[in-house]
Amino acid sequence: MKRAKLFQFSIMNGLLEGLYESEKTIGEIAEHGDFGLGTFNGMDGEMVAYNGEFYQIKADGTSSKANMSQKTPFASVTNFKADIVHEITESINKEGLDQLMKQLTPGPNLFYAIHLEGYFSTVRTRTVSKQHKPYKKFMLAVNDQKEFVFHDKQGLLAGFYSPDYMQGITVAGYHLHFITELRNGGGHTLDFMMEKGKVEIQILEDYEIELPSNEKFINANLGGDRSKEIEFTEG
Ligand SMILES: [Zn+2]
Repeated sequence: MKRAKLFQFSIMNGLLEGLYESEKTIGEIAEHGDFGLGTFNGMDGEMVAYNGEFYQIKADGTSSKANMSQKTPFASVTNFKADIVHEITESINKEGLDQLMKQLTPGPNLFYAIHLEGYFSTVRTRTVSKQHKPYKKFMLAVNDQKEFVFHDKQGLLAGFYSPDYMQGITVAGYHLHFITELRNGGGHTLDFMMEKGKVEIQILEDYEIELPSNEKFINANLGGDRSKEIEFTEG
């Protein structure tokens, strides 16, 4: 059986360092997967991809289809095909999802693509506001983020679980973006309560990172333990 691969463009520590631009287009990202998440140049909202459709969620919480020529400083995608499907009959939040993942998956040291779809009584999201040059580091840029609470929505969460040892390269643990069924709102998910629906999980054993080749990235200081910063910025 072919091993499923997570494709990632750039690294999380790059965003923390304020590297908010690259030449990589959403169209190029889409060549590596139909499902995933990321952001846009200038941190102009959150990106979520499902079924080959890429959406941009703006700082006001509204969303629209992304243009394939838009550029991104960070994105993670895969070609989604569920290995595990689980019906949700009792409400589940972020912590409940973690418990469920422990039951359903082989273990914490592989990557997993996660798709939750159904009826959500609440979803708490945030979306960073578009940043202007000179770019501030992410720790400061999140001061411009807006939080939203969606109530009683059909919709989906798309994203990934990444092992602890990957912190800094990506976001360790859960990173999920929300979009409503009508595709008119969403954001980076802080917490949620799904009442009914299903969880689909894909096991990802291969991992590919493409690094930006621009001068800023190549020479930036991207080392050090930034777990605290990631916990603060990614919630
Ligand atoms: Zn996010």
